[in-house]
Amino acid sequence: MEVQQRELLGLTSSDLCQFLESLGEKAYHGKQIYHAIYRIRQFRIEDMTDLSLALRERLLRCSRLTLPRTTLSQLSSDGTRKYLFELSDVERIESVFIPEEHRDTLCISTQVGCPMDCKFCLTALIGLARNLTAGEIAGQVLAILKARQEFSPEPALAERSETLRGSAKPVNIVLMGMGEPLLNLENVNRALTLMTDPNGIGIPPQRITLSTVGLVPKIFELAKAPVVPNLAISLSATTDEVRNRLMPVNRKYPIHDLIQACAQFPLRPRQRITFEYVLIDSVNDHDEDARRLVKLLSRLRAKVNLLPLNPGQSNGMRSSSPERVRRFQEILASKGLAAYIRRPRGTDIFAACGQLHHAQQSLPLVH
Ligand code: SAH
Repeated sequence: MEVQQRELLGLTSSDLCQFLESLGEKAYHGKQIYHAIYRIRQFRIEDMTDLSLALRERLLRCSRLTLPRTTLSQLSSDGTRKYLFELSDVERIESVFIPEEHRDTLCISTQVGCPMDCKFCLTALIGLARNLTAGEIAGQVLAILKARQEFSPEPALAERSETLRGSAKPVNIVLMGMGEPLLNLENVNRALTLMTDPNGIGIPPQRITLSTVGLVPKIFELAKAPVVPNLAISLSATTDEVRNRLMPVNRKYPIHDLIQACAQFPLRPRQRITFEYVLIDSVNDHDEDARRLVKLLSRLRAKVNLLPLNPGQSNGMRSSSPERVRRFQEILASKGLAAYIRRPRGTDIFAACGQLHHAQQSLPLVH
């Protein structure tokens, strides 16, 4: 009797072929299963009718396919949807779907909780429970794209390859949900391979951004990964003194080392590194900070995303005023540094940056 059930979600096409061979079945069934999961988004083995009934029955005995299960989905007044997913061990993670005019952005998690302890972020309050598997990371994308298909139908399956190449709204992925992706780099790399495979999910690497607190050795490792996404650095301060207080990781990898690592990160033509800067009233939003930021980034191909602080851990901190945010942006722009003010999305459902862990909300549920 086959007792140990193999989890199929997260396996690549060649992993699946090997698995089928190990069962004494034809390897090419592995490709069919891969296509069914990642391309057609068919998540029940019983529905994979390209496979014989006998093979499906056998697979049902010795394997399983566990997609993150949506336990809650909330719709914000601005169209943003937050998903609360339950994993096979009942841990919970959150992901966000952000529709925009010319693209849809999926913000996904890489860990359950986070150990980095940034003082403005709510996820920090739960600490780290565990890393997500590659299947759980890519699974968030599959689950959300499947849901999107239901609330905004796509062209027929046969045309789907065209869809991902541009005839419908393209999809951007940001690894900016719960967790620090570079602490889970092995699984993140596997997930990047799954998400970008043109025979599978098929999202090009240029449309994927990994955001990190700045773990310097891991940035070098990412630069050599099989699939290199865009890099975003959560900087949020221009002096070590302030950054040490806001982001304890800075005590280990101070600003200078971080910028050095960024200078060596490989970029495609016209590609830039994004620096995220959470603007906190009277903490890091002085004119002097803006000028220092320009200097710090002067040797890099960089752009800045300014994020007015969302209510998270309060710690007595408040967002910079809209005037301050604009002034900060103007100083950067006047020195030729491109800076964008990120309009917070989904704040009414606590789906905005740094708000992804929020217990007990009494908002309408949407399916
Ligand atoms: N650990 C990674 C990815 C998760 S955080 C990282 O730190 O980059 C994603 C982004 O949300 C980061 O830029 C972070 O600085 C920002 N963020 C966290 N809490 C926030 C808050 N309360 N308001 C605004 N942005 C916040």
